[in-house]
Amino acid sequence: MRDADITVRVSATADPAAVRSARLGLLLRSLRDGGPRSRGRLAEETGLTRSVATGLVAELAELGLVSCEGAGQRGAGRPGVQVRLVGGAVCGVGAEINVDHLAVLAVDLSGSVIAEARRGIDGRNLPPEIVLDEVADLVADALAEARTAGATVTGITVGVAGLVDATTELVTLAPNLGWRDIDVAAEVRRRLAATTGPVGPVPPVPQVRVANEATLAATAELEPGDADRADMVVLYGEVGLGGAVVSAGRVIRGRHGWAGEIGHLRVDPRGRLCGCGRTGCWETAVGLRALLDAATDPDDPVRDPALTLEERLATLVDRARLADGRTLAALDEVGAWLGAGAAVLVNTLNPGTVVLSGYFAVLGEWLLPALETRLAADVLAPRTGGTKVAISAFGPTAAVRGGALVSLEPLLSDPTALAELHGGTR
Ligand SMILES: [Zn+2]
Repeated sequence: MRDADITVRVSATADPAAVRSARLGLLLRSLRDGGPRSRGRLAEETGLTRSVATGLVAELAELGLVSCEGAGQRGAGRPGVQVRLVGGAVCGVGAEINVDHLAVLAVDLSGSVIAEARRGIDGRNLPPEIVLDEVADLVADALAEARTAGATVTGITVGVAGLVDATTELVTLAPNLGWRDIDVAAEVRRRLAATTGPVGPVPPVPQVRVANEATLAATAELEPGDADRADMVVLYGEVGLGGAVVSAGRVIRGRHGWAGEIGHLRVDPRGRLCGCGRTGCWETAVGLRALLDAATDPDDPVRDPALTLEERLATLVDRARLADGRTLAALDEVGAWLGAGAAVLVNTLNPGTVVLSGYFAVLGEWLLPALETRLAADVLAPRTGGTKVAISAFGPTAAVRGGALVSLEPLLSDPTALAELHGGTR
């Protein structure tokens, strides 16, 4: 959320406690997005008076969320009190359930990683109960690690490669996992509540939410102040293809939260059968499954379900670097199909950026040439509509990072809620 939106909300409410909470959150967001700076500049940039900002900064320092340096220095030439976020004081946890891998990441307010874990699974052939056991196990370890590091966990958000109903928060359909109508958040929460961690019983479990993995990846790919990312399309490559469209800095969710299912755009009516039951969906041409089918034989060790996604991708990167002909041809083909589908979206939306996220980011340098050639050929507007193609800095960790960032939102809306969380998780 932009600072301006918060300012509007603050002025629209008359409740002094709500105004205070929103202003505290505004300062935290401003420090997160713009980095450390003097208290005077912080006041100026958030539209608060110096005295109000001073009081609020003191309150945030009391909560252990910010530190102030240079207090007590006065006079001309002094830089003034410098305010910065305290690293590791609080963290959000993001988890991901995908077809061939599970992941978890805890990040603090400044975006630093507090805990991280990944596990390879064969989600297509395992019952949901087992997959949920495994993901809860990873999350429990991350909670214990965060607690040991002294960080208070503000929430947990689980990303799933499927449709998540915005109202009921049920995973309505995850075609590649074969899941329908599963209450993932409740199932994970129940497992966490029953878990005992390595340093004693896990305290009351923070709030658990569920969201579409590509929507979460898009949250991680947003860069406040970067106009080219305020309108963007995020292509999140996994076994299939997750997508998200960002307009004016916000992820478009649609009526029921199901927007962005671009993986099921039909790009090749004579193409392969998709996990959704249709033929020729975009993800059947560009998902990791398609790449592996083109680049490897069925008994290739890179397909071992026990491998983590990172291990699998590292092998493919090695083969591409060694200029293995079959690998390069497969990457070229996937790149061209990526360009063909991306052109439909660029013609429709004229985004500032198309972000290659998920597995596409790891193999981006080999996908880009064919992608850009096809995009230039298929987009009507001159100079490809001014759309840039960017490679994500987060790659396959974008969804868990987005989940962790979303999990920090309740604190950013009301930093005073931290006192209650302190009683819970540390
Ligand atoms: Zn499909």
